[in-house]
Amino acid sequence: MTNTQILCGSCKCPVQTVANPKANDQVSCPRCNRSDRFDKVMNTAKEHLLHHMQRSLHARSTKAAHASKFVKITFQKPVNRSFRWVTSDKGI
Ligand SMILES: [Zn+2]
Repeated sequence: MTNTQILCGSCKCPVQTVANPKANDQVSCPRCNRSDRFDKVMNTAKEHLLHHMQRSLHARSTKAAHASKFVKITFQKPVNRSFRWVTSDKGI
């Protein structure tokens, strides 16, 4: 991954942490002071990225289904979720 930033899920502000953080280092948002351990933050950010991928995949297949009357959508649109921490990576 290149240049993926972790942002606060609430104010979308890039988070602050130490250089080369370890699992138990604190990550915090400079704007609203939300903070968590680095490993938790990473897990949430990865979940967010996966969620984003599923949503864009769904959006694409919905478009394809509109183009062809014979294709039925077989999976549910992922519900909107809010994440404590998100990634800046929109490149999918
Ligand atoms: Zn914040």
